[in-house]
Amino acid sequence: MGTAGAGAGLAALCARAADAPDALLTAEEQSWVARHPVVLFAPERDFPPFSFVDSQGQHRGLSADVLDLVQDHTGLKFQAAAAGERALNVDRLKRREVDLLTSLRPTAEREQFIGFTSAYVSSPAVVLRRRNDHRSGELATMTSQRAAVDRNSAAEDFLRRTWPDVVAVEVDTAAQGLRALAFGEVDACVVNLATASYLIERDRIGGLRVAGETGWFSTLTLGYRKDWPMLGRVLEKGLAQISEAERAQMIARWIPLSDIAWWQRPEVQRVLGAASIGTGLLMGGLLLWNRALRRAVSQRTDALQKELAERQRLETRLRTLAEHDPLTGLMNRAALTEALRRSLALAARQKWSVAVVFIDLDKFKAVNDSMGHAAGDELLRQIAARLQGCLRESDLLGRLGGDEFIVVAEALHDGPRNAMELADKLLMQMKRPFLVEGKSLPMGFSAGIALFPGDGDTPESLIANADAAMYQAKEQGRFRASLYQGTAPVTGEETA
Ligand code: GH3
Ligand code: MG
Repeated sequence: MGTAGAGAGLAALCARAADAPDALLTAEEQSWVARHPVVLFAPERDFPPFSFVDSQGQHRGLSADVLDLVQDHTGLKFQAAAAGERALNVDRLKRREVDLLTSLRPTAEREQFIGFTSAYVSSPAVVLRRRNDHRSGELATMTSQRAAVDRNSAAEDFLRRTWPDVVAVEVDTAAQGLRALAFGEVDACVVNLATASYLIERDRIGGLRVAGETGWFSTLTLGYRKDWPMLGRVLEKGLAQISEAERAQMIARWIPLSDIAWWQRPEVQRVLGAASIGTGLLMGGLLLWNRALRRAVSQRTDALQKELAERQRLETRLRTLAEHDPLTGLMNRAALTEALRRSLALAARQKWSVAVVFIDLDKFKAVNDSMGHAAGDELLRQIAARLQGCLRESDLLGRLGGDEFIVVAEALHDGPRNAMELADKLLMQMKRPFLVEGKSLPMGFSAGIALFPGDGDTPESLIANADAAMYQAKEQGRFRASLYQGTAPVTGEETA
């Protein structure tokens, strides 16, 4: 039995385990379980902390705990087949040599022959760098840089599709990627946060830092034989039964967020913020979890209604934490992208234009270098407040990270003109120096403008095009704004 022992402590927590299956499953489902006394699963050999094989050959990891709990709640009996690599396991499931895989991301191709449950965990993919390498960890700025990525991971597919200019260096396992980075063989490593944090602790890899977010999540589900839809229904009910306390315990056990020293380092916090790391991880999982619960609630009782209300309160609290940049209190990238998406949907109906203004401070690094990071942080806060102060209530302002901000102005009637006027107004505001640690500091920015609908119709394309226009403004002398115009943005000299 692969899962034996792995979640014994957790199983002991479930007082209701013994009588759960009868209450939970319909007669049809119970009879299916009785007719299938053993469900065979193929553990993934090397995907910590979600699934791996320990030195005694036991299947371990977060997914092993999940199986133990589902087993207790549903009466299903899981039995481990020989462990294998992911691609091999998927083939075995396709050929029905096994019935279940434990930590799989749904893809359109896989969905042709695999059924997927709701997700039980979700972890953000991040960019790691060496600690003494101070370059940005934004993938957009990493053209021609070499980034290690696990050849079999969905992160690899994401990286190649979304950022083709980053050189993806394939490695066999995430652990190899981290070592290649630590030894200076690559510039960066793209890996999900849970795996990175687990491996860094396990293998005692020093000297790495989280340098950026990718906006992409590793979202894991149980994958089962598609010709056994009843198995899917029973698994889904079992997952929905796992309580919040059990979930929190699993996450604490496998994802060392709180006691890992490198999370606490200032440079890590600067990039992600402790709040956004923890909540990013929990949020992803929690949202998916609640979706599963909502489905179960529609079939069941008041007690579940209460539990759902409680989780929704927690969800709201976590959402507040997860959507804000901890330094300035502005919306972070994820929140801004979603707000912009809503803004574009409205603009499409109302037939008005929306401007995305991408702002990057000029020579900001010099402030860090001469006065220190704390002074740089204080300056960023003051700039955020000053920008906010001269925007309309309906405008959006967010910080993407580093010295980059985005302003979104909607309901424009003469898009290009209104947007240039707005950029000039913001530049005017920068003429008054800032006061940091008793010193008067001049600071300006360069801005790029992309307009909906002409320059893009998704948040991602508009932000990327505004970014490209911003680079033109930098090249043409800084302290100015430039409109995106395909490959050749037009620059407007600062008029004030
Ligand atoms: P440019 O005019 O070309 O934009 O030059 P720059 O000096 O502004 O450099 P760039 O925009 O490429 O890099 C921004 C720098 O901001 C990099 C990093 O040192 C610094 N930085 C990034 N995040 C933070 C932060 O949270 N706090 C502080 N103080 N500095 C940060
Ligand atoms: Mg800058």
